[in-house]
Amino acid sequence: MTTTSVSTFSAPKGTYDLIPPDSAEFLAVREALAAPLRRAGYGYVETPGFEQVELFSRGVGESTDIVTKEMYTLTTRGGDELALRPEGTASVLRAALQANLHRGALPVKLWYSGSYYRYERPQAGRYRHFSQIGAEALGAEDPALDAELIILADDAYRSLGLRGFRLLLNSLGDRECRPVYRAALQEFLRRLDLDEETRRRIEINPLRVLDDKREAVQRQLTDAPMMRDHLCEACKAYHEQVRELLTAAGVAFEDDPRLVRGLDYYTRTTFEFVHDGLGSQSAVGGGGRYDGLSEMIGGPELPSVGWALGVDRTVLALRAEGVRPQVAAGPRVYAVPLGEEARRTLFGVVTRLRREGVAADFAFGGKGLKNAMKSANRSGARWALVLGERDLAEGTVQLKDLESGEQEAVPLDRVVTAVQAKVG
Ligand code: AMP
Repeated sequence: MTTTSVSTFSAPKGTYDLIPPDSAEFLAVREALAAPLRRAGYGYVETPGFEQVELFSRGVGESTDIVTKEMYTLTTRGGDELALRPEGTASVLRAALQANLHRGALPVKLWYSGSYYRYERPQAGRYRHFSQIGAEALGAEDPALDAELIILADDAYRSLGLRGFRLLLNSLGDRECRPVYRAALQEFLRRLDLDEETRRRIEINPLRVLDDKREAVQRQLTDAPMMRDHLCEACKAYHEQVRELLTAAGVAFEDDPRLVRGLDYYTRTTFEFVHDGLGSQSAVGGGGRYDGLSEMIGGPELPSVGWALGVDRTVLALRAEGVRPQVAAGPRVYAVPLGEEARRTLFGVVTRLRREGVAADFAFGGKGLKNAMKSANRSGARWALVLGERDLAEGTVQLKDLESGEQEAVPLDRVVTAVQAKVG
């Protein structure tokens, strides 16, 4: 958006501010994405916004764009190398290991909500600061757990009224079958006409080459060997169970043998939710199983699965579909005092109403009746409480229905109960 700014400063490139009324939409989306997790026994976890760089380079992967190009790193005065978190999984796993949660009952099911940072080229739906809701289930190898998470994400999107999304599903194999496939893929890729950087990638992480978006690369990949054809019996059976559980739950999916995703730690189940109304940045959420990640960051064997859903893109997807999420209600009552004494009295009434759980607002700034009533209408409140000098003398206050225009005098000493009876 380009508007003339009156301030010397504006939000940094690739970021934006959340301000009313749009911010209410964001909050509603965050709430809705998290609600199914709470119902399924996931506990809330919050970790710092920054971590040691090495957690991400080991956890997310040395050859990924996220680590090589997109991390915001800094050296502290004490000489620590830190990075603003580019994703949530490595931090959450680190926190769980540090707190020894993995020694208790498994799986440990956690959810989180927060800001993430990637130095990407900004464009519609791609920001340098963005917001995710995530979930991780640590310490169990069970296809039902993979299915649970996918179903919860699907439920979350649907609860918001989102319809135009698709679920892409793949299996990336395990430490049995993936190395064999990796070697076969490398052999195939080494014969192709590729640039230096891609050649290097073949040696470090060949699967990521399949994810290359360039037409000239994709054209050469038509006959590339696919993981699907190299899965070991255990991985095949596991994947089949995930698929069956999803089908039984009525969750539609598309098998996508080329789905790799941008992070190195995935094994077996991987998935992505894409929305067709978003242009090139179509992924609204994604995740998968990461059985080897704990060991990669120095922990014990801890097979786990998780996902992260992008809040920004979910909001954009809803807008693309013309769906407005149910936002939290504003004030129900708007108080309009006329005169100094009325101001003091009515401010007290507003405080009491709020303490009784009635959402109420007040005409601040000594506005005249006309302006104050305008504000009352704009606030979205259904009722106005108007207190003038005559009312004060009579010990009453006018309770006005802003929809019908009807008005009645209620005794000041019973105003809270009277309002409660109306507002319900
Ligand atoms: P990832 O960790 O890359 O799998 O991202 C999970 C989800 O976060 C994606 O599906 C997007 O919805 C969202 N996301 C990732 N990167 C960005 C970004 N730069 N801007 C906005 N949303 C993002």
